[in-house]
Amino acid sequence: HFASLVRVPGDPILSLMEAYRQDRNAAKLDLGVGVYKDAQGLTPIPHAVKLAEQRLLDSELTKTYVGGHGDAAFGERLSQLVLGANSPLLTEQRAGATQTPGGTGALRLAGDFIRHCLPGRGIWLSAPTWPIHETLFAEAGLKVGHYPYVGADNRLDVEAMIAALAHLPKGDVVLLHACCHNPTGFDLSPRDFKRVLEVVKARELLPLIDFAYQGFGDGLEQDAWAVRLFAAELPELLITSSCSKNFGLYRERTGALIVCAGDADKLVDIRSQLAYLARNQWSTPPAHGAAVVAEILGDAELRKLWQDELESMRLRVASLRRGLVEALAPHGLSERFAHIAEQRGMFSYTGLTPVQVQRLREEFSVYMVGSGRANVAGLDATRLEQLAAAIARVCG
Ligand code: PMP
Repeated sequence: HFASLVRVPGDPILSLMEAYRQDRNAAKLDLGVGVYKDAQGLTPIPHAVKLAEQRLLDSELTKTYVGGHGDAAFGERLSQLVLGANSPLLTEQRAGATQTPGGTGALRLAGDFIRHCLPGRGIWLSAPTWPIHETLFAEAGLKVGHYPYVGADNRLDVEAMIAALAHLPKGDVVLLHACCHNPTGFDLSPRDFKRVLEVVKARELLPLIDFAYQGFGDGLEQDAWAVRLFAAELPELLITSSCSKNFGLYRERTGALIVCAGDADKLVDIRSQLAYLARNQWSTPPAHGAAVVAEILGDAELRKLWQDELESMRLRVASLRRGLVEALAPHGLSERFAHIAEQRGMFSYTGLTPVQVQRLREEFSVYMVGSGRANVAGLDATRLEQLAAAIARVCG
């Protein structure tokens, strides 16, 4: 049966992590894997999560299944976080969340929904995008295409993006990153988003907005600006939300697909389809992470603590971005790398070439992805000068 089966190459980031682990250089730096890290290089559990878990341990009464859409309190509170506490979509019952195993599960459910309910529609991704977008939607049976996003000069190319969107087949799905674009860190400005919205309307495209880093860009509310603009201006919208990064719940697999529909009745139809599709993938979602999020968002004290912790993560990354550009100044490189301070979120398309990335690894034990993508959260604030010197060497 299995004789003709071949091996799939492993995830390049995982092999990078392995090489990092084996590196004996005490000054090694891991800018590869996409998780938040604190000043000690750790990815701790937020205190708000720990406290919520303690409460749940005492109050939880059953481990029986949650329903197909998951924890209702989680769905409501997360929808408010994403769409705004007073969103008319929620009062009119035109939007609802289906809990999924992480943001990845939400994307997969969205892919299944498109294939099953909107057959023939292609999905268009930014070039580049998070590599899992490419394979996930292809595995869900969708035709995957690309629109330009970052040019060969390592700059956001909004004109090329808009021009490409204007020629997409009517009705196709366009995937947008709400904020903190992975892998580049280049985000659309509010003005850019408004222009994209106009093309979306003109071509009758269906946006699928991937919202995996709420709170990591400019703040919880600010990061939701584009999502809320699209939700207010369009009758229909798909949003995938992940609690992996902002709640530090990575392995608990916590996220949701939020659907906005033209009216409450249509939403019920759509949700019946989502429950059917989810049932055939994972039946019902894992409960723990969602219960933690519901507990935090539903309690003023825990929520305040969580928001403060998230804000400190956001500010750490932003200050590392500025710090690295400042450290590059004595080498005459602050202008060349100024974009690092302007990008948002954990990731940066540094503009370093594959050869420079390889030299950084081999000569300085600095590990980043071959594309020149660095996880800024992996930087060490006390060693920015050292990294800047290494970058200057490989750019010299
Ligand atoms: N979308 C993007 C853009 C991401 O970067 C990630 C995580 N790396 C996800 C979705 C999915 O996150 P998770 O499944 O871990 O919640």
